[in-house]
Amino acid sequence: MLQLDNVTKVYKVGAFGGKTFTAVDGVSFDVRSGEVVSLIGESGSGKSTIGRMILGLTPVTGGSITVDGVPVRAGKEYYRHVQGVFQDPFSCYNPVFKADRVFQLIKESYYPEVSRADWDERVRAAVRDVRLDPGQVLGRYPHQLSGGQLQRLLIARALLLELKLLVADEITSMLDASTRIDVLNLLAELKERGLGVLYVTHDLSLGTYLAERTVVLRHGTVVEMGLTEKVFGDPLHPYTRQLLAAVPRLHAPWEDAGPATDCRYHAGGASGGLFEAEPGHFTACAGLADCPR
Ligand code: ATP
Ligand code: MG
Repeated sequence: MLQLDNVTKVYKVGAFGGKTFTAVDGVSFDVRSGEVVSLIGESGSGKSTIGRMILGLTPVTGGSITVDGVPVRAGKEYYRHVQGVFQDPFSCYNPVFKADRVFQLIKESYYPEVSRADWDERVRAAVRDVRLDPGQVLGRYPHQLSGGQLQRLLIARALLLELKLLVADEITSMLDASTRIDVLNLLAELKERGLGVLYVTHDLSLGTYLAERTVVLRHGTVVEMGLTEKVFGDPLHPYTRQLLAAVPRLHAPWEDAGPATDCRYHAGGASGGLFEAEPGHFTACAGLADCPR
């Protein structure tokens, strides 16, 4: 459903342009309907940049992003199928308006023909779908709601569209443990309904368990991807091993892992810099130091 092909993002940096920074470099992966894919990697590895490109919030420099064949540049036709939820739910609301204004904006953009009464009923149904009481949350200002409630309202807003893909970027990191479980259960429900979810996180202990597949990002490139149980259970790339070993201190420098010496997978044939070590389990050449390529 979601398809990234050789996607690159180059940011211009510095006051007078000229300098550039490649945050994402030739990334390809897909998300199927009814599947959660987690995108993991240390801080600065390019996870949010990928999420923002998928959501059309920042332009793609190279390569292509499509949802069921519709490219992100198609605009409305694409956005009605793709929505995002972010780490800080407060920043998605304007504090001077009631929180349910986000629903009104969806109606104005996408469903101008729907009557007010029908729309209100749809909104209440979506709010109940995220296990909130419409009577309690609708009509309130953002500061009168909790982070978890605002987060769930954003998911409810997404449900009002003909959603195929939800991009969830660090959505659980601000929430307390029990609210976090609620939000994760909600994602599991969306998956049951056939939505695809891209779950962006560096919180490897929670959430990733929802994901069938995991994509590991390092310095803007995919170093490993495959079934979550394989990637976590038998990581092929030294960076993945380091990431998993460093769960309580994710920002340890990469160099700590020591240089990889042998390249077990080089013989497997290359595809976008990744080798299919086992069916469906890809890794970058694990022995870059010695790899003659
Ligand atoms: P975190 O886990 O901390 O959220 P991330 O993997 O989401 O990290 P990104 O936010 O995608 O990382 O950033 C990737 C790189 O791109 C970083 O080095 C960052 O400094 C850089 N970057 C992000 N946004 C911009 C921008 N607008 N202009 C220039 N560089 C940027
Ligand atoms: Mg980020």
